[in-house]
Amino acid sequence: MYREKHSVVVLGGGVAGLSAGYVLSGAGADMVLCERGPTVGGLSRTVVHGDFRFDLGGHRFFTKNEHLEKLLKDLMGEEFVVTPRSSKIYLRGLYFDYPLKPANALFGLGIGTTARIILDYAYQKIKNILFKPKIVSLEDWVTSNFGRTMFNLYFKEYSEKVWGLPCDRISEEWVATRIKGLSLTVAIKDALFKSKSRKVATLIERFLYPELGIGRISDRFREEIEKVNPVYTGCSAVQVNHDGERIKSVDIMSERSEGTVEGSQFISSIPLTHLVAMLEPKAPADVIRATKELRYRSTIIVVIMIDMDRATDLTWIYFPEKKIPFGRIHEPKNWSKFMAPMGKTAVVAEYFCFENDDTWKKQDHELVIGTIKTLAGLGFIKKEDVLDSSVVRIRKAYPLFEVGYEKNYERIIDYLQTFENLQVIGRGGMFKYYNMDHAMESGIKAARNIMEGRHETLEADQKKEYMEEIYRK
Ligand SMILES: Cc1cc2nc3c(=O)[nH]c(=O)nc-3n(C[C@H](O)[C@H](O)[C@H](O)COP(=O)(O)OP(=O)(O)OC[C@H]3O[C@@H](n4cnc5c(N)ncnc54)[C@H](O)[C@@H]3O)c2cc1C
Repeated sequence: MYREKHSVVVLGGGVAGLSAGYVLSGAGADMVLCERGPTVGGLSRTVVHGDFRFDLGGHRFFTKNEHLEKLLKDLMGEEFVVTPRSSKIYLRGLYFDYPLKPANALFGLGIGTTARIILDYAYQKIKNILFKPKIVSLEDWVTSNFGRTMFNLYFKEYSEKVWGLPCDRISEEWVATRIKGLSLTVAIKDALFKSKSRKVATLIERFLYPELGIGRISDRFREEIEKVNPVYTGCSAVQVNHDGERIKSVDIMSERSEGTVEGSQFISSIPLTHLVAMLEPKAPADVIRATKELRYRSTIIVVIMIDMDRATDLTWIYFPEKKIPFGRIHEPKNWSKFMAPMGKTAVVAEYFCFENDDTWKKQDHELVIGTIKTLAGLGFIKKEDVLDSSVVRIRKAYPLFEVGYEKNYERIIDYLQTFENLQVIGRGGMFKYYNMDHAMESGIKAARNIMEGRHETLEADQKKEYMEEIYRK
């Protein structure tokens, strides 16, 4: 058993924890970062498999925050390549633009369906005027904004595949932020009056990508932190010790040793529910009950390596239909040519599931065989070209926004806020649907809070002005 002491202890070495460590270390603060996995990166890591490299589902870095973009560009230097983005939805044997473009959705499935969508949409608009709809779920939001035909065609199956819940149990909070740029009225007007087609707000045509995979961002963060402070990988936090007001220390465990790290300030990016379960003395019973009600969705990545130069020419392809077992594929070589050897490529398929459900429990070879069969059936690959495969299971990949989750979430956050020296950050750590940029912002913000003696829990995406201000410093 060893003991060590640092000013700041950061739990979790995904991009959120690493960003916090990077800012603290850059300012000369004394900190340590503990990461359970064998490498840093968390969900944003890149796996190396022989001569192939793949992300856990292609990761596109994008931020609207120019300060964060500059920080990343400075960090990555020449490693960033600019990658064009072109994604499609594959539905009923046809390709549709992703993000869904209203005109494409409206007219893509033939005149009969277009008429049904428009009539249904008009009916819904009148209904909305007469009876103001109560919007609680994804289904409420989409039917109220686009009509039931659009909901059934484009949203129902994919949402249920991703979340594993019926759409009337998925909170509208998730969908409203994802597809708010879509407008059928605009599409209909554009079609009738031939005005210039407008761009959906969420459409981003190009993005920055490290030529050796998204995991390089985390590797670079680590390299910079390690110039001044330790980063322990293969090191799990197993118990978080407190006195009711302050966190005192964290018990950690690695393959070779066990120990305790004391600190003055603590930053946690590990899943919120895990953090509460590790508290000692135990959290109050109602807080523990609330953690049992908050669920995460998991994912399985199945990678098929192939003896052909390219299988697709797209960034991502989405598969809403339930008869196709995976939800999305990407080909790392379309993101950077260095992700596969010359003349060979790989296709990465993402399966959405719950930990320990039937998909999760499938043997790796079953998943591989099923993926090859489906990809070959869709015409992307030939079975005889398959060279190799890899399967990676990822627990707690997506916080699950079930209708009514807020009350449990708020109870947990209220309780954790009673600890004056603890900040939670990141996607799983804050139970927010954060992309990398928001996860990084939350880590940077936590570091700044410590450096400036603040105790507050702002949400990165809601406090843009604050973020702008701290980057300027
Ligand atoms: C399939 C998929 C595709 C995605 N695509 C994109 C994309 O294109 N663009 C984008 O911006 N974002 C994307 N994201 C989101 C992105 O992955 C996350 O926003 C980001 O990686 C979150 O970083 P984080 O540090 O908050 O969390 P994590 O990466 O989850 O980091 C938390 C870390 O804590 C560690 N940990 C857990 N328990 C312990 C413990 N007890 N002790 C020590 N360490 C522990 C974990 O091992 C992990 O490394 C995608 C996510 C998924 C699942």
